[in-house]
Amino acid sequence: MDGLMKGKRGLIMGVANDHSIAWGIARKLAEHGAELAFTYQGDAFGRRVKPLAEKVGASLVLPCDVEDSASIDSVFDTLAAEWGKLDFIVHAIGFSDKNELKGLYADTTRENFIRTMVISCYSFTEIARKAAGMMNDGGSMITLTYAGSVRVMPNYNVMGIAKAGLEASVRYLANDYGPRGIRVNGISAGPVRTLAGAGISDARYMYSYQQRNAPLRKTVSLDEVGGSALYLLSELSGGVTGEIHYVDAGYHIVSMPTLEELKR
Ligand code: NAD
Repeated sequence: MDGLMKGKRGLIMGVANDHSIAWGIARKLAEHGAELAFTYQGDAFGRRVKPLAEKVGASLVLPCDVEDSASIDSVFDTLAAEWGKLDFIVHAIGFSDKNELKGLYADTTRENFIRTMVISCYSFTEIARKAAGMMNDGGSMITLTYAGSVRVMPNYNVMGIAKAGLEASVRYLANDYGPRGIRVNGISAGPVRTLAGAGISDARYMYSYQQRNAPLRKTVSLDEVGGSALYLLSELSGGVTGEIHYVDAGYHIVSMPTLEELKR
């Protein structure tokens, strides 16, 4: 299975540091022979991302702020000039004002609602459109989502609405690009301790609750999310598109806490 991604080139968007889900995915893809390009958001993240990219022999490391279409265009202009063709993309980008990731969803401001939707939802569509332009022999795209899209999670608030839109985008994009052999899927990861995860108020309680109550009695590792991404980005999943694949130790199937939890 070593060369599963051999000869494939792809773009990884959303590494902030070595705790990032995108880093877990990149590592796994590189282990299986993929050639990678990375983007980073601003110079401060750039200083962390460049040494990581070097570790996996990345050919390109480019700045990109998805709030700015020109910044996205510039990444794809460079990729077109350097590589010509693209086989896969990983979109692992999300943001909302942390002051609104607590309290009532109903109090979300118009300004933060729009900004959250642009960064966490629309950016995937814009990036998918640019990437599809470089996928002439088919390809595979994934984004990262969370179960707060379909069920209410404390403090997840407007991010839940953005993730619901993102998951619907996966289905529409899969239908748009399916005739060209381009597959589009989402990974719904369970809670992982990352920079973005820490922005959600009281996230640590949800993390330990899942450890006690998910069928596998654990939270997921970067390596486990990476493994599922490898499946979705390789030919192993050649018949799969438009899917939201849960990588959450099974938490989404339970309707109640464990008996041990209820009796605590
Ligand atoms: P992270 O903080 O490591 O990554 C988030 C990334 O988003 C960062 O690299 C950041 O630079 C990038 N980003 C934010 N705004 C941006 C902008 N304007 N332009 C370009 N990049 C921008 O955290 P993570 O948890 O690895 O998050 C990756 C994805 O996984 C996010 O979509 C997140 O919602 C999703 N997710 C996270 C969890 C979790 O528990 N951590 C669970 C399910 C899904």
